Amino acid sequence: MNDFDVESEVRSYCRSWPVVFDTARGARLTDVDGRSYLDFFAGAGALNYGHNPPALKEPLLEYLGRDGITHGLDMYTVAKGEFLRTFEELVLRPRGLNYKVQFPGPTGANTVESALKLARKIAGRESIINFTHAFHGMTLGALSVTGNSMKRGGAGIPLVHATPMPFDNYFDGTVPDFLWLDRLLGDSGSGLNEPAGVIVETVQGEGGINPARIEWLQGLADLCRRHHILLIVDDVQMGVGRTGPFFSFEIAGIEPDIVCLSKSISGYGLPMALTLIKPEYDQWGPGEHNGTFRGNNPAFVTATAALREYWSDDALERSTLAKGERVEAALSELADSSQAVELTPKGRGLARGLSFSHPEMAAKTCAAAFERGLLMETAGPSDEVMKIMPPLTISDAELEEGLAVVGDAVRTVTEGVLA
Ligand code: PMP
Repeated sequence: MNDFDVESEVRSYCRSWPVVFDTARGARLTDVDGRSYLDFFAGAGALNYGHNPPALKEPLLEYLGRDGITHGLDMYTVAKGEFLRTFEELVLRPRGLNYKVQFPGPTGANTVESALKLARKIAGRESIINFTHAFHGMTLGALSVTGNSMKRGGAGIPLVHATPMPFDNYFDGTVPDFLWLDRLLGDSGSGLNEPAGVIVETVQGEGGINPARIEWLQGLADLCRRHHILLIVDDVQMGVGRTGPFFSFEIAGIEPDIVCLSKSISGYGLPMALTLIKPEYDQWGPGEHNGTFRGNNPAFVTATAALREYWSDDALERSTLAKGERVEAALSELADSSQAVELTPKGRGLARGLSFSHPEMAAKTCAAAFERGLLMETAGPSDEVMKIMPPLTISDAELEEGLAVVGDAVRTVTEGVLA
């Protein structure tokens, strides 16, 4: 019997990549047969510094070796204290940001749930505004503000108290930003339930690598201010440097009321999440939101080491932007030379995508890349986008190697198709 036969039908990534992985280092994984794979997936954004980065592994091993606290609920521990001090010193203070830090539970969905609950508590209202093609997680609250109909269908109950509005460019630039939302909010006869908050991704990851323009983000922040609505930025996938700066919203100069972080915050693929709350909105009662695994201390150790290693200066941010431009150039070249299939490059920083006019070709291209030893996944409502998310720390040579495979895979799948 195959070891994996007992695993539920819900499994998915292992269907696209039907090999057994064993070890990994940096931007490469190795399977049990010794075959090496280059990683343009990075744990869906949880491995921004690559696999098992030595600067994080050493302090982790040292911590485990001295029997440091592993499980701590929200007890004070040395590891938590060091993380909070380092986060304040290297992330918040240099950016002039003032947030209280909540540990909401270890996953992205945990931080989204806590953000929605807190916004509702502060405002005393139920309704949340979300955006078309958004993705915020699989628990019921997070699912209620997620767009994907297949995922929503999994809930099995009505998903309520959320109102979707058009994300940036939903009408291909033909409709002024926020025309509909602004009108509804200002009209006492519109029938819109007055919202507690708005939740938004600055670049939609699962929704198809859709970046919101800086002006759009600024317009949204302004609208929230004018209408006294809390602004929640879900930076679970695009935070921790994926688009260049530590927070993806920095380029717009906005200060969300609540920020959701997870995925790469531990830097090692260890489960960890944060909900950042403007001090005046930290209105939780003790224990009002809790959870057994909020104090994953080994994750605090690697998170602290990651901040010290990668965020003491702006070298990582600059290299991410440069590598992102290189990927964009390679994708534009592919798009320009494609005859029968329309290819559209999208993205910001090292969150990049290539949208296919023939949606099924994106998955076929990822499969062709896998045959050539490269891991990539698809995104978008019809899985029409090939998603490129390498570790930010990937070397230039590995990036070129991966881009060459991408080019080869795209040409193999698209060539010979007539318009
Ligand atoms: N928010 C965003 C923007 C995400 O991309 C994800 C995961 N892809 C989540 C929330 C949910 O995170 P998790 O899978 O850890 O619950």
